[in-house]
Amino acid sequence: MSNNAFSSLPLPQALLSNLDDLGYSAMTAVQAQALPPILAGQDVIAQAKTGSGKTATFGLGILAQLDVKYYRVQSLVLCPTRELADQVSAELRKLARSIHNIKILTLCGGAPIRPQIASLEHGAHIIVGTPGRVMDHLDQGRLNLDDLRCLVLDEADRMLDMGFQTELDSVIAKAPLKRQTLLFSATYPDSIAALSARLLNKPVHIKVEEQH
Ligand code: ADP
Ligand code: MG
Repeated sequence: MSNNAFSSLPLPQALLSNLDDLGYSAMTAVQAQALPPILAGQDVIAQAKTGSGKTATFGLGILAQLDVKYYRVQSLVLCPTRELADQVSAELRKLARSIHNIKILTLCGGAPIRPQIASLEHGAHIIVGTPGRVMDHLDQGRLNLDDLRCLVLDEADRMLDMGFQTELDSVIAKAPLKRQTLLFSATYPDSIAALSARLLNKPVHIKVEEQH
């Protein structure tokens, strides 16, 4: 029997109340399948179509384990485009409304770099960005991932299609080996299978079929 109430999950009460306020009354299929292993700390590969609620899937995983008192980058979400990164940041901020003083920073190419440098000097808990720009900040020593607990690759198939393999590899080389890695993809070609095999540790593979 499946239970699709968010309250069946081991989530902090403040997050559950906020989900209520947002009108998220039930988990979507990918949330119901992926959140239990994510909240248990496992690596997860999740394949589900656009609009299925993947952002809240990794977002709740990130927020449930975040220690806001500890002012270091604890989660990094990599996205293929600036538009997608902005959408992810907006959804994370909505989900995090009940968490005071949380700082979510968006670092994308095509945006001016100076304000990003200034923001990084003040620190952040969660970074959302595109691989090239995140790599630049890492290479210049403005961003440090030593305290990273959770790495998310969102729309991983599109990131590879756009030729971000090298940037992804160099960002991930700077992340701690002991971490949780979550990979989201609409499709699962051989290139994504190979990437997953290299980056994830005994992942749970979830595939949500189209609903008819
Ligand atoms: P995906 O990344 O899978 O394409 P999104 O994470 O962008 O999908 O979610 C699509 C929309 O569904 C967003 O507007 C989001 O706020 C909404 N949403 C996500 N989960 C739920 C839920 N459990 N209940 C209601 N709305 C939800
Ligand atoms: Mg998405």
